[in-house]
Amino acid sequence: MTEAARDERDIVCPHCKKPFTGELLPGAAERYRGFKCPHCKLFVPAERAADRSG
Ligand SMILES: [Zn+2]
Repeated sequence: MTEAARDERDIVCPHCKKPFTGELLPGAAERYRGFKCPHCKLFVPAERAADRSG
């Protein structure tokens, strides 16, 4: 039980429009926090990932 608390979210990639469960990447600043899409390998900002309806 050495794992730190993980922040995982069900989100939809704004680039390729595919859903995935992403683990929030730690960032130095709010704008750098987000996820890495396993489908297109692009960075998804956390603030954009929050919007599933669009
Ligand atoms: Zn993607």
